[in-house]
Parts: sequence; C-alpha cells; structure tokens
Amino acid sequence: MQSPTRAPLRTVAEWDLRAWTALLVCALLVYMPTAAYAAKDQPPERPLPPEVFKPLDEALQKSYLELFDEASKLEFTPQQIEKMRQYLKDSRSYCRRLWAGKIDQWEKELRAAQAELRSRTRTLKEAQRKQYHCKIQNLRLQIHNGRMLRQQAIPTAYENRLAKLDLIEKWPAEEKQIRAEIASGAYTQRKYGDVLDIGFRDVGRGQEQDVKVGRDAIREMKLAGLMPPEVKNEVVRRYVTDLARKIARNSDLRVPVQVTVLNSKEINAFALPGGFLFVQRGLLEAVEDESQLAGVIAHETAHAAARHGHRLMKRATISSIIYQAAQVAALIFTGGAASIGLYYALQYGFYGLGMILSLDLLGVSRDLELEADQLGVQYAWKAGYDPTGFIRFFDKMATQEGYVRGLSWFRTHPPFYQRMVHAKREIMFLPEKKGLIRNTDAFDRMKKALKEVTAKAEEEEQDRPSLLAPETGCPKPQMPEMKPGKRRVETVCNIPID
Ligand SMILES: [Zn+2]
Repeated sequence: MQSPTRAPLRTVAEWDLRAWTALLVCALLVYMPTAAYAAKDQPPERPLPPEVFKPLDEALQKSYLELFDEASKLEFTPQQIEKMRQYLKDSRSYCRRLWAGKIDQWEKELRAAQAELRSRTRTLKEAQRKQYHCKIQNLRLQIHNGRMLRQQAIPTAYENRLAKLDLIEKWPAEEKQIRAEIASGAYTQRKYGDVLDIGFRDVGRGQEQDVKVGRDAIREMKLAGLMPPEVKNEVVRRYVTDLARKIARNSDLRVPVQVTVLNSKEINAFALPGGFLFVQRGLLEAVEDESQLAGVIAHETAHAAARHGHRLMKRATISSIIYQAAQVAALIFTGGAASIGLYYALQYGFYGLGMILSLDLLGVSRDLELEADQLGVQYAWKAGYDPTGFIRFFDKMATQEGYVRGLSWFRTHPPFYQRMVHAKREIMFLPEKKGLIRNTDAFDRMKKALKEVTAKAEEEEQDRPSLLAPETGCPKPQMPEMKPGKRRVETVCNIPID
C-alpha cells in the first residue's frame, strides 16, 4: 500500500513522445516532494523492551470483558503504561499522516486522469473511455474511503486501544472501590439507584412533547431522501417490535414505542425523540444473541426515555437539522448535488445514517452516553435479560477490527474507558436475578428469516447504479480495509507488528 500504482492507462505503444515528456515532468514535480517526505516520516519507535512491549501489546488485543477479569493479574508499572500510551498516540498521528499522503496522491492521480480524458475525449474508443471512467470512479471511491479511514476509523481504533490501556491501569483500584460501595451499601445512593421503581420514578418528564419532534424529523428525513426502505418480512418485523415493546414496558418510557426495521446493512440502531426506534438490518445480522440486541435496544430506549435529544437540541429546528444532514451526505458522497435516492449512495461501504444524523438529535454526548448505558443496562435487566448484552456487543465491535464497518456504530457510540466501567459497575450493583435470558428460539427464527431478507437486498444492490459509482461493470477498487476481521489497525498504517 506504500506506493500506489502510477501506471498509465494506455499501453506504452500508444504514447507519443510529447505526452511522455509532459508526464515525466509532471511526475517529477508532483511525486518528488511526497517521496522525500515519506522517506523522512517513519513509524514511531517502540518505547519498551520486547519482554514488556509484547505482553502489553497482546493484552490490548483482548476484549474489554476479558480485561475486566485479567487486569488485576497484569503487572505493568505506571511508567510502562504511560510510555505505551504515548506510543499509541504517536502511532495514531503517524497513521493519519500516512493516509493524508495517500489521499493527496490519489487526488493528484484523479486530476491527471481527468485532464488526460479531457484532452483525448474526441479520439477515444468506447472501451478506452470506459477504462477512464472506471479509473476516475475508483480513485474517487478510494479517496472517499481513505478520508473515512483517516477521519473516523483510525482514530476510533486507537481510541479503543487507549481505553483498554486505561482499563489495565485503573480497573483494579476501581473494582476495589465498587466492592467497598457494595459492602457499605453506599451504592444504593447513586443516581438512578432506585431500580425497583423503574417506570414509576421521575425520569424524562415531558416525554410526550417529544413526539412531535420525532415525527417532524422522520418526515424531513423522508423528504430529503435519507430514509432507507423498510424490511417487509413479517417474522423479522414482528420479532423486533415485540422485543422493543417488552423493553419499553420495563423502562421509564411513557410514550408508545414505534418500531421501524430499516433495510440497510448499517450496523446500528437509533431512537428519535418521542420513542421512534429504528433498528437496521446490519445490526440484526451482527448481534449474536437476543440479550445483545436487547442491550442495544434498551440503550436507545434510554436516550428517548431520558429525553437526551431534547437536552442537547437547543433552539435548532428539526428542518435545519435534517437539512444539515442531507448536506453532509451530499457533500461526502457526490461532491455537491443531493437527489432522491441519496440513501443508496450512502450505503456504499456501510456508512449510513449514523454518519450524518446530528448527534444532538440522537442525544449523543459523553455524559449522556454514560447515562444511556446505565439506564439501558437497568432496562435490559428488568426485562429479564442478561444485562451484559450491550457490553458484549460493544466489545465485539471494538475487538473485531472492521474499520469502515464500525464507523457508524462508533460515531454514535463513542468508545472511552469510563463507558465500559460505568456499565460494568451498574451490572455489579443490580440486585441478583435468577434465570436471566441470553437467547431464545424466537431470536433464532428471526435470524433464519433474516437470511432471505439479506440475500434479496444484496442481490438488488448488486448492480444498482449509485451516485458514488455510476459506471457499472468496473473492476472493484482496492479497499481491503473494509473487510471485517481480526486485521489490526497497524496493518492499515504500515506499522510493524510481530
Ligand atoms: Zn447512545
């Protein structure tokens, strides 16, 4: 990935001398400074000897839940941890610089290809023209993908790493503190500690005023072409609706929950003010059992119940918020013009609604995420579910490095250390309950029905012309970073791993 191909589209024989000279001069002017810069810019040095670096690095690959169990047995000094922290921060900067360079490079190639196309446009045969179109289209996709990696995916991957480092450092002391609070009974005095009165306590007063806000937002989203189509499959819809209603009955929500299942591969769910819950197909595909899905739905329900959108949306009108979202979408995906069907362009590469909707509208901020985590854990527990569902799903997203795949999820659920601890602490404080549910037959039936829905959607998506890729039948651009799996962020950045 270090040196992107610079091979011209035409064969050597086709080139005349003038074009060659021009290209050579261009190449010298354009690439020399980049090459000189790249040679200077090296990945950061490892700050610790291998016998310390290696085990610490390995620990950082573990899931949050494993680290909760193992942190107290790990023996790293505060100095070693601090050195690793600085190393991770330096690596993050290096990684982002590297991608800035790649994006620059592709932008130059894009402009060169466009200039070439323009100068040859009269003489090109159809197949040659198509080659140019494909090259331009693929460069645009690569640039777009590169920007997403640089601005979102790489920072998030390192954010998760840093959060795990914090956990290794701080959890053992934190755990002692929690045990002391349990022993002394002090934990009952925490905010929202009255878990036996869920649904009867004073949480989110005035929810009914939010219904109009949510309704307006949905209408505006539809008008702007941002709303994905719905899943029509009755088994899937019924299952998700029943589950959401069960959670709502065991929550502080006092307006009816309205459930929509969106036919989108985005791995996310969100609640608009007033109890409008949107669950995306990608989330249903990604969750491994009912308690994970219940955890996510409970978290979103908590945002609606505690009126987080209302608390963050000061003065802004719904139409201005959705207009902004449509503009962001148009800017990212088309370089200007919005149109009906914008959502299909958005789907390319799993970006989706979570990347464009206002975080204020969704009620997302660090503090409010902590509150939604706490309340969500309580609601899932009250509904009879294993309350670790949300953490386990979060952990799955954080540990299985899918980069672009997790963009939407982590934009609306930012990873940080206090978040995991806060949820874990709440779980430890909850009264013991027997027979908590992890999975059900209904979940497995939903998964089975979902397979057909996914297969059909993928087939339809196959050759759908989108704004981002209007030329059909091009070779797929090289974007391996989009594949989910165990690939570490370092491999995307040429930082050595053992
Ligand atoms: Zn949230």
